[in-house]
Amino acid sequence: MRAGGQGGDRSPFAFPGSHDYGTATRVFNLLAPARPSGALTATTPEEVGEAVRYARRAGSRLRVHSTGHAAAVAAPMEGQLLVRARMSERVEVDPDRRVARVPAGALWGEVVDAAAPHGLAAPHGSSANVGAVGYLLRGGVSFYSRRHGLASNGVRAVELVTADGRSRRVDEAHDPEILWALRGGGGGFGVVTAVEVSLFPVRGAVAGAAFWEGRHLDRLLETWTAWARGASEDIMSSLRVMRFPRVPDVPEELSSGPVVCVDGAVPYAGDERAALGTAHDLLGPLRDVAAPITDTWAPVAVPEVIRMHMDPPEPVPILGDHMLLEDLDEAGVRALIDLVGPDSGSPLVAAGLRQLGGSLARPHPGGGALDHLDAAFVYSGAGAPLDGVTPGALSAHCARVRSGLARWDTGTTAPTFVETREQPQRHLTPDRVERLDRLREELDPTGLFHADITPNATFRDM
Ligand SMILES: Cc1cc2nc3c(=O)[nH]c(=O)nc-3n(C[C@H](O)[C@H](O)[C@H](O)COP(=O)(O)OP(=O)(O)OC[C@H]3O[C@@H](n4cnc5c(N)ncnc54)[C@H](O)[C@@H]3O)c2cc1C
Repeated sequence: MRAGGQGGDRSPFAFPGSHDYGTATRVFNLLAPARPSGALTATTPEEVGEAVRYARRAGSRLRVHSTGHAAAVAAPMEGQLLVRARMSERVEVDPDRRVARVPAGALWGEVVDAAAPHGLAAPHGSSANVGAVGYLLRGGVSFYSRRHGLASNGVRAVELVTADGRSRRVDEAHDPEILWALRGGGGGFGVVTAVEVSLFPVRGAVAGAAFWEGRHLDRLLETWTAWARGASEDIMSSLRVMRFPRVPDVPEELSSGPVVCVDGAVPYAGDERAALGTAHDLLGPLRDVAAPITDTWAPVAVPEVIRMHMDPPEPVPILGDHMLLEDLDEAGVRALIDLVGPDSGSPLVAAGLRQLGGSLARPHPGGGALDHLDAAFVYSGAGAPLDGVTPGALSAHCARVRSGLARWDTGTTAPTFVETREQPQRHLTPDRVERLDRLREELDPTGLFHADITPNATFRDM
């Protein structure tokens, strides 16, 4: 069933209640359902063009998503039309140029699997099910980022349909300003149908996750933050306090109370022994604090790296918060322990820090609108309103953490880690926001895509 058009203009969008509408509006975060007035899954650039032209004629705003992993950050879609981009093409790898052409809708797992047979790795994050395009447009912090920088710095070309219904391919030689804007500029430039992104030569990785009883948090966090200050740029790791539910899939030793998890990866192109040494620099002092309950750190094949952070593959209800933090001094470490540690009463399922620094901290020559993150750590904390935990309790705890860590909050955010639309967001400087707005005015004067712009990426009233 199709959503009605105006004056006999046949709509390509499906109505609420239909199967196609249900497929196109599916999101990962079950707390943030998408409820546009019509929705379609576009599988070719031509279908995207048709949707764009129809939305213009109908005078409706057009929204776009791929997997709905960032649904809680999107503005409400009521009264608007939604395109879910899921191009029917496959990921293609050019091993000589070390580039993957990634059709919109492809998941990182698909890119990783296409690149691995060529000895190449992709700048994926911690979930195989996140859409590569949505992640790349917002920056993207990967296991390779401390060596290679934000994932969006590796975007070489973008194919998109702009508000005039035209398909374009933008790269450094053609429309470099649009390419600049698409790399972290906060959206609202059109529907992307494919991206070309650089890959890295990688032979293997030393990666895994080690878990300790929550009571060791104090010394583990002190040791980890001290190590992080001088860590090699080849390693990316995170330290989280996790509260697993008591379910059959989770071993009892991990679900019987809060645990501390240190996961990460040392991808290597050369010598495995050097990578083992880098991993040991992290794990040796932590294992000296106490013996882990479980420890999977070991040499792994490149495609395994994407699974190390253990993100949920299936849709879940999530409510959380995010900040970019300065380096934590002794008082900062203490504050974090008090806020999310075993005695904090925290209802958050996972809360902790991901390491930044290295190439992530340096402006990237020729990078896009967002080309680096000027902070020491990503703080993320999130929980699920299940088993008696209410959304109110989660929000209240997030607010408590935010205020307790205010001294170390840089006031900036990484767009891919922002958890809700309501939380403060600041990742672009005013001069960049002005430059982005000028380009949007040129490309989309009627504001067809304006509701897709992330807060802080425009001065406009959205
Ligand atoms: C479990 C989990 C793990 C994650 N791990 C990481 C991580 O390790 N590192 C990291 O940096 N981030 C991570 N993220 C965040 C993730 O990168 C962002 O949520 C990202 O925006 C998801 O992209 P998507 O296309 O899958 O999501 P969607 O919700 O489908 O899209 C997000 C936004 O991207 C834009 N967009 C998507 N597709 C298109 C398109 N075809 N054309 C134009 N605009 C489009 C739209 O503005 C849309 O609102 C994670 C998120 C989750 C839920």
